[in-house]
Amino acid sequence: MFKRILIANRGEIALRIIRACKELGVEAVCVYSEADREAPYLRLADRAICIGPGPARESYLNIARLIAAAEIAEVEAIHPGYGFLAERSDFVEICREHSIEFIGPSPEAMGALGDKVEAKRFAKKAGVPIFPGSEGAIDDEDEAAKIAEETGYPVILKAAAGGGGRGMRVCRNEKELRSNIKQAQNEALAAFGNGSVFIEKFLENARHVEVQVIGDKHGNSIHLWERDCSMQRRHQKIIEEAPGPGIDRKRVQEVCEAAARLVRSAEYSGAATVEFLMDKDQNFYMLEVNTRVQVEHPVTEMITGLDIVQLSILVAAGEPIPFKQEDVKVRGHAIECRINAEDPDKNFMPCAGRINTWIPPGGPGVRVDSHACSGYTVPPNYDSMVGKLIVHADTRDKALDRMARALGEFTVEPIKTTIPLHLRLMQDEGFRKGGIDIHYLERLLKG
Ligand code: ADP
Repeated sequence: MFKRILIANRGEIALRIIRACKELGVEAVCVYSEADREAPYLRLADRAICIGPGPARESYLNIARLIAAAEIAEVEAIHPGYGFLAERSDFVEICREHSIEFIGPSPEAMGALGDKVEAKRFAKKAGVPIFPGSEGAIDDEDEAAKIAEETGYPVILKAAAGGGGRGMRVCRNEKELRSNIKQAQNEALAAFGNGSVFIEKFLENARHVEVQVIGDKHGNSIHLWERDCSMQRRHQKIIEEAPGPGIDRKRVQEVCEAAARLVRSAEYSGAATVEFLMDKDQNFYMLEVNTRVQVEHPVTEMITGLDIVQLSILVAAGEPIPFKQEDVKVRGHAIECRINAEDPDKNFMPCAGRINTWIPPGGPGVRVDSHACSGYTVPPNYDSMVGKLIVHADTRDKALDRMARALGEFTVEPIKTTIPLHLRLMQDEGFRKGGIDIHYLERLLKG
């Protein structure tokens, strides 16, 4: 096992990784920007090193400064968390050049599964269901029109290197396709430095269902079942839950097993999530693979009793996954609400600022993953998520009731948060029934 690791991240996920390290007996070194200087979780780290000013480019995204901090602190490994440098294979290469273990996949495996077009090739071979559409990137307009015709409209044009819900265009007929294609390529080139675009069938009213997988360096990969993350706004997940309500268990098992095969076929080690859209008939189509631990990993931890962050560290240290697929049992139901410092009444405007009162909920089956507390100031520089509230109960209905109870206890003043929205959603009939689609929340907010 490692003696000491560096956490190349901030906020709740930095704290989550510190907690995993403490339980493993690993020393945790945190880095922080000047905007995070007062963050209370830094006190829980064995060492904290300032790496620059608030803007992420000058601190959490600055590879030279991170590597310098890693060398000063003499760490053996770096945990990237999510966001920032977590999916940058050039960062993984640089860690390797400095003989620092990256806690995550090799740059080759990240390259294979992190690229949407490459990942599809691997998926096809592993028997993971993918969208009908182009086999790879398309360059020629006529060729694109032919593929779209075969796929059937509507189709969606997507950037191979896309992310964060950007670089996508829905085309409902050939005219729209032809007028969009050049623009999509130019946009992709400007935004991602790679002009490749591809075509997929566009699925209306789909659900977002994803599979958590963990791989090790001994050729093992095990899935930890699925999560439903259909409650979204502008492609950003707001609520996640596990298991996915109302999904045929046999069908989901097949998809989970295929996702594990996919990860194995890329010789991938670390935590990964294979994301799918699911149609009304419960057919799955792979969207992409996220080559890192995800924000919503706690719901899977709650239903399986496993610690995904600890596992990611163990496998990076070269240990085999310490259990078998058949040992992964699902117990009960878990839900996570993202608590964002945003004003739901003002179009989700970010509300950075000082939190005078922070009273988190507690009691049976309640978990709060957050770096905030009374007196903490949310800096304006980063993501607006200030914490995650997770509950676990025997059944989905009980979990919904428990979440409503916990949200009712949660006091955050005076900044605005998404807590009132979540309270409303816990009472929402459509959500309580289960099986909402990814545009449900947007319709609800409009209506
Ligand atoms: P990103 O990496 O930018 O997040 P994804 O491929 O994960 O891109 O897609 C983001 C979102 O766009 C999905 O969650 C879904 O809402 C929508 N989307 C993407 N592909 C399709 C598709 N083929 N049909 C319908 N919606 C899609």
